[in-house]
Amino acid sequence: MKACNACGKCCIKYGGQGLDVNEDEIAAWETYNPTVREYARNGKIWIHPTSGEPLQQCPWLEKAEGQSTYTCKIYTDRPNDCRHYPTTVSEMVRDECEMIEAHDITNLDRAQRELDRLMADSRPPVQSR
Ligand code: SF4
Ligand code: SF4
Repeated sequence: MKACNACGKCCIKYGGQGLDVNEDEIAAWETYNPTVREYARNGKIWIHPTSGEPLQQCPWLEKAEGQSTYTCKIYTDRPNDCRHYPTTVSEMVRDECEMIEAHDITNLDRAQRELDRLMADSRPPVQSR
C-alpha cells in the first residue's frame, strides 16, 4: 500500500456525484468557512449557490498548471466523505486508486489493515485486528 499520490481520480469521480454532508459539517462551515457553506443545500454538495443546480465537478479541486497532480482548495475543511476516503480496499480496486500495489490484491485483509493504519488520522479503522 503506497501513500496517496494526489492523482485526483477519487475527487474527479465523486466530487460531482452529490456527496452527503451532515448538520455538524454545515455548522462548522458556517462558522469557519462560509463560502463552502454556500455550496451545500438540503444535505447535498456541491450545489451552485445561485442557480441551485448540482455541479458536475467539485469546485475545490485544482490542478496546477503543467502538473499531473491535484490539490483540494479546502483541504482542512473538506467534507467527511472526502476525509474518510479510501475506506475499503475493494472501493480502491473499483476506483483504480493509485495507492494500491500488486501485493495488496493477494492479501486483502493485510491490505485493509495497512490502509486503516495510513488513514488513522482521518477515520476509525474498518478492520479491528
Ligand atoms: S472537497 Fe476536496 S477532497 Fe473533496 S472532492 Fe473536492 S477537491 Fe476532492
Ligand atoms: S484515487 Fe487514491 S491515489 Fe488517487 S488521489 Fe484518490 S486516494 Fe489518492
